[in-house]
Amino acid sequence: MDIDRIKSQYKLLKGWDYAWTPLSKGYTDKILYINAGTTEIREKNVPPAMKEKFIGGKGYGLRLLWDATKPETRWDDPENEIIISSGPIGGITQYSGTGKSLVVSISPQTDSVMDSNVGGFFGPFLKFSGFDALELQGKAQNDLVIFVDGINHRVELYEASGETPCSHLLAEQLTEIFAGNDIEKKNIGVVSTGAAAEHSLIGMLNFSFYDLKRKKVRQKQAGRGGIGTVFRNKKIRALVCKIPGVKGNLNNVADLDAITERGRRFNREIRELDDKQCQMRQVGTAHLMEIMNDHDLLPVMNYKYGSHPEAYRIDSSVWKRNFTQNIPDGCWIGCNMSCSKAVDDFELKTGPCKGQKVLVDGPEYENAAGLGANCGIFDPGYIIETNFYCDTYGICTITWSSLSAFIMECYENGILNIERTGGLDLRFGNPEAALEMLHQVARGEGFGLIAGLGVRKMKEMFISNGWGEASFLNDIGMENKGLEYSQYMPKESLAQQGGFAMTNKGPQHDEAWLIFMDMVNNQIPTFEDKAEALHYFPMFRTWFGLVGLCKLPWNDVEPENNALTDEPAKVPEHVDNYVTIYKAVTGREFDKKRLVEDSERVYNFQRVFNLRRGYGTRIYDRQPYRAAGPVTREEYESRSERYDKQLREKVGIDTEKISTEEKMKILRKYREEQFERLVDAVYKRRGWNKNGVPTIEFLKKIGMDLPEVIDVVRNHQNDTT
Ligand code: SF4
Repeated sequence: MDIDRIKSQYKLLKGWDYAWTPLSKGYTDKILYINAGTTEIREKNVPPAMKEKFIGGKGYGLRLLWDATKPETRWDDPENEIIISSGPIGGITQYSGTGKSLVVSISPQTDSVMDSNVGGFFGPFLKFSGFDALELQGKAQNDLVIFVDGINHRVELYEASGETPCSHLLAEQLTEIFAGNDIEKKNIGVVSTGAAAEHSLIGMLNFSFYDLKRKKVRQKQAGRGGIGTVFRNKKIRALVCKIPGVKGNLNNVADLDAITERGRRFNREIRELDDKQCQMRQVGTAHLMEIMNDHDLLPVMNYKYGSHPEAYRIDSSVWKRNFTQNIPDGCWIGCNMSCSKAVDDFELKTGPCKGQKVLVDGPEYENAAGLGANCGIFDPGYIIETNFYCDTYGICTITWSSLSAFIMECYENGILNIERTGGLDLRFGNPEAALEMLHQVARGEGFGLIAGLGVRKMKEMFISNGWGEASFLNDIGMENKGLEYSQYMPKESLAQQGGFAMTNKGPQHDEAWLIFMDMVNNQIPTFEDKAEALHYFPMFRTWFGLVGLCKLPWNDVEPENNALTDEPAKVPEHVDNYVTIYKAVTGREFDKKRLVEDSERVYNFQRVFNLRRGYGTRIYDRQPYRAAGPVTREEYESRSERYDKQLREKVGIDTEKISTEEKMKILRKYREEQFERLVDAVYKRRGWNKNGVPTIEFLKKIGMDLPEVIDVVRNHQNDTT
C-alpha cells in the first residue's frame, strides 16, 4: 500500500478542540453534532428528560432525528441525519455481546424512520472519546473524512480527493493512516461504505474492528434500509475514531464486580454448552441452515418453498469447513460467543478484485439462506463471493438476496427477459448472471441500476411499464413498508407473519423472531398467546438497541435448566443477567418490568414518528400474500397434503370435490382473515386503536405523552380501520 500517496489525498479542512467528558455510569451526556455541509462542529448536552425517556442507542437516534427533521423531509434533503449511538452498556468488556451501535436515519427505501444495529469498534470508541451519540447532518460539496481523535480530544474534517476505494480497502487504508503504527491499529474504528451505495437505494454501512489474531481489519454491517446511501449522498467517505486503548472500566460503572460475576458465569455457560447447542463459536448463525430446511422454513426461490433437496450443499457442515476454526471471532472485545466467523484467503473469481485472496466476513445464516437457497443457487463459492462483494460495495446482503430472488421469479414468468435485463439470463440458479448484476450496481450501469432500487420500486416500474400483472407482482414482491423481508419463510407461522409485517421499520427479524415458538414448538396457539408474544418480544428486543447490547447471547446459548423454567422462551436467567448488568452500569433502580416499559416508550415513539411522516397505520402493516400462503399452483401442489388438511379441518371444505384453483382461493381467504384477526389482537394488546394508532390514554400510561407526540396522534384517535 502506497500510504504516502493515499495520505496526500486527504486535506485538512477544519479542526475543533473539545473538553473531554469521561464516562460516568455508562454515559457522557454529550452529543457530537457535525454538519457536513456547513462544517459546523459542536457539542450538545443530553437533557435529563431525554436520558430518562429515551435511554440511549436507538432511543437517542429517534429523538434527535425527530427534532432535526420535518414531516416532509426526504432522505436526500440536507436536514436528514444519520445518528450513531451505542447506549449505556455499550463498551463494557466483562460480558459477551456488549459493543453494539444503533444507526438511525430517514430511509431512501421506506421514506420513513430506519434503524439498523451493528457491531465493530466505532460506537464504543465514540463513547470513550466523550460522546454518547454522533449526529451527522448536511451535505458536503466534496468527499469528507471525519476524524474523532479521542486521544487529543479534537475533531477534524478532511476533504478527500481521488477515487473512493472499495470499503474493505478504505477501512484498511484509514486504519493504517490514523493508527500510525501497527500497535495502534487496535485503537481505530472506521465507518465506511462502497461504490454500490452511490448507485442504489440499498446502501449499508461497514463498521470496522481490528482482528488481533489475524492482524487484519474486519467489518460488520449496519445493513437495513439504505443508510449507506444516505451516507454517500452526504458525501461522507468515512468516519474514523481513535482512542488511547480499551481497558477495565472505561464506562465507570456503578458496580463492576456484579458485572464481572455475571460475565464469568455466562462465559462458563458458553464454554460448556455452545458445542452441544448452537455451535455459534464454530459456525455462527449459519448453524440454522439445516434446522430451517428440516422445518420447511428456509426461503427457497423467492420464498415459494421452505426446503430443497440440494440444501445440504450449503448447510452448516460446509461453513464449518470453510470458516477458520479455533480463533477468537468476536466483533467486540470480550465477546466469548465469537460468532463473527470468517473465510480466510478466499480467491475471488470475478469483479475488480478477481484473482485476489481476501478475507470474507461471513457468510452468516441470512447470507447463506438468502444469496443461496432463496435464489436457487446451492453453490458455497458463489455465496462467499457475493457476500464479499455486497460488503465491500456497501449494500445489504439481506436486501440483495430478496430483490435478486424477486427478479429471478419475474424472469421465469416472462415479466423480465433477456432484452429487459440487458443480456442477463436471470433465472433461478444462475450464479454468473446474478454476480454480474451485482457488479453492475457498483459500476452504476445496466440492469444493476434497476435492481438497486429495491423490490417496491421495481414492482412499481414493472407495473407502469405493463410488464406483468400488478396483482401477481404485488403478491410475490417480498417487501413491506418498502423494506425487503429477511430470510425466513413465514407461510406456516401466523405469529412470524405478524412479527414481520407489524414491525416499525419493515420486515426484519430483529424485532420479533417467533417462527420457532409458533410453528415448531407450538407454544403460542391462540390469537391472544400470539398477541402477547408480539407485544413482549418486540418490546424486549427493542431494549437491546437502547442499551448497546447484541441479541445473540440472549438465547443462542441457554442455561442447561432453561427448559424447566416457567417461561423458557424468555430465557429468564439471561434476562436476570441483563437486569443486573443494567443496574450495575447505571446505578439506577431497574427490574424486568421496567425493561419492557422503557422499550415500550421508545417503540411507541417510533410508531408515532412513522405516523408523523404519513405512515404508521394499519394499511402499512399489510403483507404480500407470498408471506402467508401459496401464490401459484406449483406452490400449492408442492404442499397440497398440508393445505388440503387445513382446508378440511379448519375451513370444513371437502377438498376431493374442488379444483386446485378453488382450493387456493378459499385458502387465501382463510389465511388473510386469520392475519387480520391477528392484527386486531396485537393492536389491542399494544394499546393501539383498530387503525394501529396508539391511544392517548395508553401513551399517558406509558409516559410517552410528550406534547409533540400527542399532537400527531390526536387526529387519529377515532380511526376504525
Ligand atoms: S455474539 Fe456475535 S455478533 Fe454478537 S457481539 Fe458477539 S461476536 Fe458480535
